Amino acid sequence: MLKATPEAEQKMRDYLRQISAINTLSSLIAFLPTIFAIYTGVPFHYFFVVVAAQILVLAGISYYKYEVERKTRKIEVNPGRYVLENTMSYAIFSVSFPLLLYLFILFYSLSSLQRVLAINLLFVLSLIFILSNLPASRLKRSSKPLEDNYLIGKADELSEKLGTGKLGLFVMNLGRFKIANAGQVGTRKYSVFITDYLLENLSPEENVAVIAHEFAHAKQKHVLKTATIAWAITVISGNLMVYPIDVGTYPLLALILPGAGFIFLMLSFILIIPAIQRRFESQADLIASSVVNGMDLANALQKISRLNFTPAEISRHWSLDHPPTRERVKKIISYTHKHDSGNQKATYPASGKVPK
Ligand SMILES: [Zn+2]
Repeated sequence: MLKATPEAEQKMRDYLRQISAINTLSSLIAFLPTIFAIYTGVPFHYFFVVVAAQILVLAGISYYKYEVERKTRKIEVNPGRYVLENTMSYAIFSVSFPLLLYLFILFYSLSSLQRVLAINLLFVLSLIFILSNLPASRLKRSSKPLEDNYLIGKADELSEKLGTGKLGLFVMNLGRFKIANAGQVGTRKYSVFITDYLLENLSPEENVAVIAHEFAHAKQKHVLKTATIAWAITVISGNLMVYPIDVGTYPLLALILPGAGFIFLMLSFILIIPAIQRRFESQADLIASSVVNGMDLANALQKISRLNFTPAEISRHWSLDHPPTRERVKKIISYTHKHDSGNQKATYPASGKVPK
């Protein structure tokens, strides 16, 4: 169960290639018609026709994606629900893109001072949202509190060991979608969400290891740190982009400043923030390995990668230059071997070798 055979790895790679092609096509359909409509000068109130057409095509593609998922991953979800949810996740862009464009036009009809004020008001509102408990409350509606007494007891021990205080533990009903995932939500009040598919397929010890990993995120305030860094970067670059400069007096500066703001924003979200997140992942893995048997975590990660049809050498975000599961497992095993105090018995791999 732990290590995928070469054939299984090949099947996963083919599946990923197919799904990423479908997702790319869906993104293009969600964005391109709007750009085309703007370019050809379609009147704004006709945009709903464009959006309706986009939604129809997206629904068709979603059904095709459902078929791929059903045949490969054997998902058992109702096709209607799958198509609806998948279409919505792309259609939200088709709908909000013209709306954003309209706001953008409105924004540039303001005076430069009003623009600075408007954008900073938006930043203050987004900070309130980040610090609020809204994302967790939304997720809680589609989840139920964890009821497994063994896991609850272990979680209490973990929160005591790590000093996190009491955390909410919730189970998300995604079994029919066959998604094995867990995550910590909340910047001030912490909740941990685990999918039922993950709970059912991992051993009790592996589930405890996953919970320890999520608790480590809470202890280190990783969600708050990431959100604050992303927010600060957006505030700085946003202000650089709208900073009022007299173009007549400083023509070069009027070009460089917004350009620098834009480049800073792009680089941050493509390079800096993912790098920080990878660091946080490793940190959470090692903290978890210090309070549970690291081998359980290593085994859990490999199982999760198989359950989700993600080859061990490919990142969850499909950036092929980064080998997360394999790399994470390697780090956890070497940490566990170094800190093996004798009361923790390494169960895998028996040879002590890092799996290839
Ligand atoms: Zn994590």
